[in-house]
Amino acid sequence: MGRRVAIVGGGWAGMAAAVELSRSDVQVTVFEAASMLGGRARAVEYRGLKLDNGAHIMAGAYRQTLELMRKVGVHESSGHFVREPLDLHFPGLFRLRAARLPRPLHLAAGLLTCRGLPLAQRIGAARFMHTARRTGFALDTDISVDALLTRSGQGAHVRRFLWEPLCLAALNTRPQDASAQVFLNVLRDSLNGTRCDSELLLPRCDLSALFPAPAAAFVGARGGHVRMGCSVRAVQGHAAGFEIEHTRGNEHYDAVVCALPPYRVAEVLAPLPLPHGLLADIDALEHEPIFAVYLQYDEGAGLPQAMVGLDGGLAQWAFDRGRLQGQAGLICAVISARGPHQQLTHEQLAERVAHQLRARFARLRTPQWTKVIAEKRATFSCRARLQRPDQATPLPRLVLAGDYTASPYPGTLEAATRSGVRCARLLMEALHVHHVHP
Ligand SMILES: Cc1cc2nc3c(=O)[nH]c(=O)nc-3n(C[C@H](O)[C@H](O)[C@H](O)COP(=O)(O)OP(=O)(O)OC[C@H]3O[C@@H](n4cnc5c(N)ncnc54)[C@H](O)[C@@H]3O)c2cc1C
Repeated sequence: MGRRVAIVGGGWAGMAAAVELSRSDVQVTVFEAASMLGGRARAVEYRGLKLDNGAHIMAGAYRQTLELMRKVGVHESSGHFVREPLDLHFPGLFRLRAARLPRPLHLAAGLLTCRGLPLAQRIGAARFMHTARRTGFALDTDISVDALLTRSGQGAHVRRFLWEPLCLAALNTRPQDASAQVFLNVLRDSLNGTRCDSELLLPRCDLSALFPAPAAAFVGARGGHVRMGCSVRAVQGHAAGFEIEHTRGNEHYDAVVCALPPYRVAEVLAPLPLPHGLLADIDALEHEPIFAVYLQYDEGAGLPQAMVGLDGGLAQWAFDRGRLQGQAGLICAVISARGPHQQLTHEQLAERVAHQLRARFARLRTPQWTKVIAEKRATFSCRARLQRPDQATPLPRLVLAGDYTASPYPGTLEAATRSGVRCARLLMEALHVHHVHP
């Protein structure tokens, strides 16, 4: 074995870097503080059930994530996830389905025929996409999503059922704060992509089993190590490499991928000679919460389809875990981004969401139990004109992986995996190593 690389953090970014580096002749060691891999997209055990810290969806356009999943043996055909044609459905209120036509007609036809919008707003939405396409989905100056929608004359209904729920789902940031440029990047690659790109990929297994755990097996099979429950306290400079100070001792490595969540980076990298502004800027990023509200109903209860939009309450989307993961009667509702709901107790949140579901779906009467999982810093706040740090740092053998690093995408699995792969390639270049495994 040649060089030794430490990967600090076993989330999707860290495991993406680990998979990519394991294909070369470097020896990889992943340090993960928690007892479960996956970070902000991980499995959570509760009442003997495998839940997730929050419902996650992927788009067909998540090319890097899907390629890595394939590499570690996770395919649609292996039953790990299901692909569904784009179908944004708020039962009784609104429905947008991609038409069976080639791009971009599949979307234009879908918008023009969608249910629940006055004709003028359907035409307005199709025109909005057409203009965005004509201008290459690029803005001269970034503004908020709200300002972009106002400038483009988007009506109240299309904002409420299409653009705003999409903005919250993709950027986890309220339209009045969210970056219109990042929103357009997402629309360019998903809604405006091929039918395949605009498909929704819904997990059929828990999130740790979807990529981080098979990635760890892939790394192990190529001589690498994954240390669980091993928290890194500091990374120090040492001769030509780095000293990793962790809960079980100190070790020397030739290079480091820092794949920590942004709010842990400054403290762990503080001993290194990095420009103060770099760590201070990462530390100053603002964050947005996501609440996952699980509600267990009787086994015969469920939603009309795997994922539905919700209106008139706190939650924006609900997922039927019975249809997706065989957990009959279990619904997971999602509340994205900041808002007054952060002041409520978990009991109050669950009660409000149960009420919201009861009002729309007659079969969902009273849940037997509820469980709220609050991720207070689920993603960075994806604001207009936000500067995100590059994966490369002034130290050639130290790189930064994570959804918060430079990317056209918001804080998503795809931003995380792309950053991990880029970090691996930067280090391979710095260490003069090449791929030796497929
Ligand atoms: C509830 C929720 C719903 C979401 N929904 C979606 C979605 O539908 N689609 C989508 O694409 N994205 C979604 N996201 C965003 C997505 O989960 C994140 O963008 C992604 O998981 C970030 O991965 P990461 O590897 O960059 O960071 P993290 O997952 O934060 O990984 C960092 C890792 O470092 C570990 N760590 C921390 N401190 C130390 C230490 N001192 N030593 C060693 N290890 C340490 C952590 O335990 C963690 O495992 C959602 C996020 C949440 C929270």
